[in-house]
Amino acid sequence: MDAGREMLAQAQEDTLDPADWGALAALAHKIVDNGFAHMATLRERPAWRDLPGELAEIFSGPPPRAPQPLSEVLETVGETVMSYPMGNSHPRFWAWYMGAGNMTGALADFIAAVQASNLGGGKHAAALVDQQVVDWLRQMVGFPDTASGTLVSGGSIANLIGLTVARNLKAGIDIRELGIGAVPRPLRFYGSDQLHSCHRKAVETLGLGNRALRRIPSDASWRIDISALREAIAEDRAAGFRPACIIASAGSVNTGSIDDLNALADLAAEEALWFHVDGCIGALIAIAPGHRELVDGLSRADSLALDPHKWLHAPFDVGCCLVRNAAAHRGAFSTFAEYLATSERGLASGAWLYELGLQTSRGFRALKVWMALKEHGVDKFGRLIDQNIDMAHYLTRLVETEPTLSLTAPTVINIVCFRFDPGGLGEPALKALNTEIMLRLQESGIAVLTDTTLRGNHSLRAAICNHRTRYNDLNLVVGEIVRIGKELTA
Ligand SMILES: *Cc1c(COP(=O)(O)O)cnc(C)c1O
Repeated sequence: MDAGREMLAQAQEDTLDPADWGALAALAHKIVDNGFAHMATLRERPAWRDLPGELAEIFSGPPPRAPQPLSEVLETVGETVMSYPMGNSHPRFWAWYMGAGNMTGALADFIAAVQASNLGGGKHAAALVDQQVVDWLRQMVGFPDTASGTLVSGGSIANLIGLTVARNLKAGIDIRELGIGAVPRPLRFYGSDQLHSCHRKAVETLGLGNRALRRIPSDASWRIDISALREAIAEDRAAGFRPACIIASAGSVNTGSIDDLNALADLAAEEALWFHVDGCIGALIAIAPGHRELVDGLSRADSLALDPHKWLHAPFDVGCCLVRNAAAHRGAFSTFAEYLATSERGLASGAWLYELGLQTSRGFRALKVWMALKEHGVDKFGRLIDQNIDMAHYLTRLVETEPTLSLTAPTVINIVCFRFDPGGLGEPALKALNTEIMLRLQESGIAVLTDTTLRGNHSLRAAICNHRTRYNDLNLVVGEIVRIGKELTA
């Protein structure tokens, strides 16, 4: 007892909490003000700018041992991180494929972090929010109320979750117990040559190997060739493979093409295959009144990956996988751990959300989706999706009417592939020219487009997943592309 008292007397009680809550609150208010100033002046700033050399120095060196006032740390953040963003919040950012963020989502991330709850599960309110967001997304894409789902870091993991359930259910053996080596006939997955690269990582991670994913040629409109797929399945069966899963692209990453989802659902049913839809780009078109028929058949999927950090503009990161067969979903990931036993009452009496995926600890990424959907309503997000698709068609018309520009793929949704082509240049020269145009647009901060190569044709690519883009931004960038192109070929 005396020894205990002595220890207590000598104890240094430390914490990460500030000594002066008022001073930290004042600093926090400044962070909010700076954040709002940043967002309110986005359009005046470059869409992107290159990093000065000093920046690499600032971000190298050993971990700090000594403390530094937070106000100074924030100054560094302001001068570095906030001054050289990726640019995807900017109205003229159309690179690769990503959302533009939104302030409500940013505030939600702050609130979520203040609470710092772990969404691995348990009985607490955040877990209800997490489950409600999954349920809302389920309803938005028309999945049945018996389906289950989980929020993950993004589309890549959402696809991995869906394909894991597919593998486990179609393997024909208890693959969780016996492993992929015990599968008597090697499994085959099918998708078009336009599949996102995350599917390769998924089949490799699942132990199937890259060759287990057969890439079926896409047709002239960049959709999977269904008769070629049918032949490949028959050929594989005859050769002793076990066809397991068809992966459809609902919005392919190169061109935005959407596979014939109904035909693929029919074929999967006929062949008793799992039907997975990669809807990271296009699944949410289901809420867009002007274009929802483009994703007809989506709700027939056995599993669906979608990405709220794209067309719902949630700040990174949040993805979602929905699985029609809830038992198969849980069956792919549930485990028993004695230290995570469920109880009748108390904290451990809530749902174990970690049993629906790979993570045990999970962040409260649901709140940023939940708050933005509450604030704006689903219909508004649907209208914004329509607006982006309409803008892409407007850009397409600008390209078609400008003699020095040409389309390299038909525009289906919000992705436009085109290039500056004054005539008379071979492919290598066109590639060099358009790459230089793309880089000058980026380096001048005018706009950020990226590029791709479509059946040998190097192309500029604008993916308009951006609620800040205005029609005039498209006029401006077309004018600049033609100006730079003419300058370079003069
Ligand atoms: C973005 C995307 C992915 C990957 O999603 P992340 O959120 O980046 O992990 C997968 N498929 C398609 C079609 C995508 O556009």
